[in-house]
Amino acid sequence: MLRAKDISIGYNSGTKHPLVLAQHINLNLVPGQLTAIIGPNGSGKSTLLNTLSGQLAPLAGMVEIQGQAILKLSNFAQAKTLALVLTKKEFSQHLSVLEFIELGRTPYTNWLGRLSAEDHQAVELAIKATQLTPLLDQKCGTLSDGQMQRVAIGRALAQDTPTVLLDEPTTHLDLAHKAQTLKLLKSLAKDHQKAVAYSTHDIDLALDIADQIICIHSGYINIGTPQEIIDSGIIGQMFQSDLVRFDNKTRRFSISD
Ligand code: ADP
Ligand code: MG
Repeated sequence: MLRAKDISIGYNSGTKHPLVLAQHINLNLVPGQLTAIIGPNGSGKSTLLNTLSGQLAPLAGMVEIQGQAILKLSNFAQAKTLALVLTKKEFSQHLSVLEFIELGRTPYTNWLGRLSAEDHQAVELAIKATQLTPLLDQKCGTLSDGQMQRVAIGRALAQDTPTVLLDEPTTHLDLAHKAQTLKLLKSLAKDHQKAVAYSTHDIDLALDIADQIICIHSGYINIGTPQEIIDSGIIGQMFQSDLVRFDNKTRRFSISD
């Protein structure tokens, strides 16, 4: 389980005034639960994920994973407890899908990177869960966005961590592939009992599938079940505009006349 205790998120630019995006955040990511992080562009979704994953120090408070302060863990110990999926394509272009997924085992292998029987087993399980068998020999650079998204999730699964964080895993995907990716994330949580959190702009889909919603908006954070978030009216306020309207009943946005 990952726990944020009264954290403030943002950036210390070395000047007198740090950029504070949100304060006093308390949240838990628990096994079996899928959490969606929503909010307008620039509200701090990526910053929150980077802070929860230990890539970025909070301005105040602390993040604990499995009961330990995440920033006190070595990189290897962090990588055994938490996988962060950013799906940047650059460094993976020339690796085959299999090689890329095997990299998920790096925290467990020796310095030669040789895979043990247990490593191979974890890789196989990841391939099966993400249905990547037909693509294993293909170079990552030749994959579609949806396929690469699945490969990145496969690698996180091979890493076999109790917590998985993903930054916008459904961006650039068509609706069917968005649904497929979200179902996979839900299954990571439910069937593999992981704590899974992802950021997204697909608010309606998040309300359909997530167990917990974290809503960041103009320095405020609201956390609750989809129904609690809808009832709070925060979604309508988040995109205050004459152009879009959120209907609490249908849980969908529409463009105003
Ligand atoms: P989101 O993912 O919700 O679109 P981000 O977390 O990327 O938002 O960014 C939130 C705010 O923090 C933005 O105003 C952005 O300009 C700022 N920001 C992002 N990264 C840095 C950084 N490394 N240093 C300073 N400010 C940053
Ligand atoms: Mg972002």
